[in-house]
Amino acid sequence: MTIFSKIIAGEIPSYKCAEDDKFYAFLDINPLAQGHTLVVPKHEVDYIFDLDDAELAAMTVFAKRVAKAIKQAFPCRKVGMAVLGLEVNHAHIHLIPLQSEGDMDFRKDKLKLPADVMADTAARILEAFEKDAL
Ligand code: AMP
Repeated sequence: MTIFSKIIAGEIPSYKCAEDDKFYAFLDINPLAQGHTLVVPKHEVDYIFDLDDAELAAMTVFAKRVAKAIKQAFPCRKVGMAVLGLEVNHAHIHLIPLQSEGDMDFRKDKLKLPADVMADTAARILEAFEKDAL
């Protein structure tokens, strides 16, 4: 069982940003920017491009909805999308609010936001996600 499956099962805490029956979104614990969110399929697959076409398409559409909620909660130029998967073997999409290209630099020092800021960040994204008419 991956760490992300344990998060989805509620065995490990996370800052939830969005959920439906197939996907779960939560804050990256070491964010590149406030609002940095991970989108994962509940179905455990290591490599994102091993998902079947329908599931990959559905995950992208779910990520789009989460990105809209992030942008609403944390105004930014655009929300960037990246897939690495070198650390956690459970497919996931990074969504990162961008003001500049450097905000997507995964080599830079990560932010350490206090728990109350993380909780408030997730609550704002979740609220925007749940209001979204899509
Ligand atoms: P990568 O697999 O290279 O895309 O990186 C995995 C990402 O997951 C990193 O950005 C980590 O900060 C993040 N991460 C790892 N464990 C957790 C966790 N328990 N909660 C939230 N984010 C995590």
